Amino acid sequence: GRAKELGLTVGTYDSGQDASSTDQLALLAELQDAFAADDQIMLHLQPAVDLVTAEPTGCEALVRWRHPRRGQLSPAEFLPAVERSELLIPFTRRVLDLALASAADWTAAGIDVPVSVNVSARSLTDPTFPAQVTEALRRHRTPASRLVLEITESVAVSERDIVDEVLARLRATGVQMSLDDFGTGFSSLSSVTRIQVDEIKIDRSFVDEMIDSAAAGAVVRGAVELGARLGVRVVAEGIETIEQRAALIELGCPSAQGYHFCRPMPADKIVQALTQLARAAPANVTPLQADD
Ligand code: C2E
Ligand code: MG
Ligand code: MG
Ligand code: MG
Repeated sequence: GRAKELGLTVGTYDSGQDASSTDQLALLAELQDAFAADDQIMLHLQPAVDLVTAEPTGCEALVRWRHPRRGQLSPAEFLPAVERSELLIPFTRRVLDLALASAADWTAAGIDVPVSVNVSARSLTDPTFPAQVTEALRRHRTPASRLVLEITESVAVSERDIVDEVLARLRATGVQMSLDDFGTGFSSLSSVTRIQVDEIKIDRSFVDEMIDSAAAGAVVRGAVELGARLGVRVVAEGIETIEQRAALIELGCPSAQGYHFCRPMPADKIVQALTQLARAAPANVTPLQADD
């Protein structure tokens, strides 16, 4: 009953997922209510910065659900259900609206870095998605170049044609494209040859391991060189330590995002965080703390 009401496509659940799908079904029902309450779905924002100067180069929107009983839920806890339901469209609209509204706050504070929004793989098979993006930009009177869409290419081969068409239409709107989690799963070298991107984000796993593993370091170096040759930005994800920062600078990586510089933080704190980073002296960067 409730599943059908929510437009959940029964049959997309794999067997073996049953225990968690019951929970995800309950969450979906509650998510409809969450849309009505205006502060349950919220964003945390995390700057990407120049590795040497710590000046902001961008800022990523990371969704959170402040659940009335379960507390703050991370995307991993509810996105799988959202992505399998018809709630994906209103959900994406909400995320785009919150992200573009936050970007307007930084503009007002004189910080013009683009805002990055994560795109669900399923949106890339939705022919109406590019129009949703341009409508959001129009609602917020924001130039397309100010928006970066982060994608991971985890789509079935059978859907490649439609994905290529959606990506081409997105490009035509003037938004920037970023390849997230680069080096893992489907976000690999073959994606770079098929998709024209403006940015590559090196997956956190390589940054994690690069100090101890020569192989991980080689992957980071390879991605940095690839980015330079393609003329695209390179961002290292999940930087947590000063040692990683030094190693990334040594490898020529231009920018990074991670707890070392700034934790993801609520929209009402991000302007201050960005301003502080923009002002910080290169050798005197104190990591900013938040409750993430
Ligand atoms: P992602 O896009 O690769 O985002 C980076 C994740 O790493 C975020 O987790 C972020 O909070 C976390 N992170 C950042 N710096 C560090 C660090 O220094 N150390 C560690 N250990 N982690 C760090 P989060 O917010 O839980 O998001 C997880 C994933 O959920 C994201 O991975 C993204 O794929 C997805 N996601 C987040 N927001 C949205 C959204 O609005 N829409 C969609 N479709 N997916 C989203
Ligand atoms: Mg991302
Ligand atoms: Mg990532
Ligand atoms: Mg990730």
